[in-house]
Amino acid sequence: MTYEIIIGLEIHVQLQTRTKIFCGCSTAFNPDHPNVQVCPVCLGLPGALPVLNAEAFHLGIKTALGLGCEIAKFTKWDRKQYFYPDLPKGYQISQFDLPFSHDGHVEVVIGAASADPAQPPPVRRVRILRAHLEEDAGKNVHDESGRGRESKVDLNRAGTPLVEIVTEPDLRSSAEARQFLEELKLMLTYLEVSDCNMQEGSLRCDANVNLHVIQADGSRVPTPIVEIKNLNSFRFTEQAIDYEVARQWESFQQTGIRMGAKGGHKRTVGFDPGRGTTYPLREKEEAADYRYFPDPDLVPMTTTTDQVAAIRAEMCELPSHRRQRLIQDYQLSTYDAAVIIDQGRPVADYFEEVAKSCGDGKQAANWLTQDLQAAMKERGESIVNFPIRPEVLAGLLERINKKRITIKSAREVFTSLLSGTAEGLSPSVPRIDELIASRGLEIVQDTGAIDAAISEVFSRSAKAIADFKAGNEKAVGALIGQVMKGVKGADPQTVREKVLARLAE
Ligand SMILES: [Zn+2]
Repeated sequence: MTYEIIIGLEIHVQLQTRTKIFCGCSTAFNPDHPNVQVCPVCLGLPGALPVLNAEAFHLGIKTALGLGCEIAKFTKWDRKQYFYPDLPKGYQISQFDLPFSHDGHVEVVIGAASADPAQPPPVRRVRILRAHLEEDAGKNVHDESGRGRESKVDLNRAGTPLVEIVTEPDLRSSAEARQFLEELKLMLTYLEVSDCNMQEGSLRCDANVNLHVIQADGSRVPTPIVEIKNLNSFRFTEQAIDYEVARQWESFQQTGIRMGAKGGHKRTVGFDPGRGTTYPLREKEEAADYRYFPDPDLVPMTTTTDQVAAIRAEMCELPSHRRQRLIQDYQLSTYDAAVIIDQGRPVADYFEEVAKSCGDGKQAANWLTQDLQAAMKERGESIVNFPIRPEVLAGLLERINKKRITIKSAREVFTSLLSGTAEGLSPSVPRIDELIASRGLEIVQDTGAIDAAISEVFSRSAKAIADFKAGNEKAVGALIGQVMKGVKGADPQTVREKVLARLAE
């Protein structure tokens, strides 16, 4: 017997609006000052009326379009009724049978990028069942000291706009679930619809997990679905799924209980990262228990194709598409394209500016993923406030391409531009030439000087020459090194060619 892992995800994403979805209260993350971002609407006081924040709807549509969803022409708001201390109204405003968007898909590269460009990495198409808008609840703060018996409620977050994204059960491993979430997060940050800060709860996920056990005759037996609630990190999501898979497999081997059979109903669990295990939560209410009904305080929404087209027009290129384009437009490897795109839109924009302006995408990618990356890390700076702007780096790379300086000299200029910023000198394109000149880094085009240096070095290197002629090819390195020392700024390629030619005489 073997099995296939079946995973579907429900992701809650906080939209980055300035104010809440149905009132004017701030959405700022503010756990140190509880209950200051509240008003009669989000407190659920009698008579207070919600008004939809148009920006939330706008960002919701942008998200859905990014997911390849269709936007419904007509959508409405429903009340989802349940009692919980962090839900002052006694119901959550959500969308039940007519979500504002449905039927999309996201393609996710699964597994690592291969070095072989002829071998594109496998892609998993994950269908999106729906995406709907709703308001967030507040937060219950429990006394975990063990002494007290009080719990507190912070309603700062109550009424924050969320989009809930529901996938079909198309993922086949915990690693795929993680890769899907990473791609989703990247897309949402490119679109600037959410900051996706997982520590602050801006992106959290529930995972529905079960196994299809494959019998000897090829038939498949599904194990009961378990929903793991509120996973707030990619690592925990992976760990929780791995734990559930192992637990369900063991349980099935012992009991043989299939989904729907006695004892085979859907269960809801939480994940304990400390122990690496899941634990049972309240039994999941069936949808009917929420007694959904249309919210009489909010008018249904209609969306025209023109409105959708206008939103689509203002969207940026999605990361999946941009990765492919970088490979084609700049001849990058799949790996380099992924490294650049996965660091976010500002890095991708920086790269394209440099690559376009210096005309050498590969060189730009090398610098971005190596020198620039290391410098940013060392200086604790992001690309947005990195002192060397794209046009300056492009100027430097252009001088390498035109064989005015070597890569090694370019590194020296780069470091010097950076340290100059500490002295208050801002890096600029003219500064590059200044530094090249003052440090004597210009490649010596004067072949006469190189020839003279070679003659000089050869006249005192009889042993190295003899070694080379006796078959020790490494001896040539020492000769080239000597000549390079003699002519500062000589192009190593030219020197190498000339030294080899002289040795062949
Ligand atoms: Zn409010």
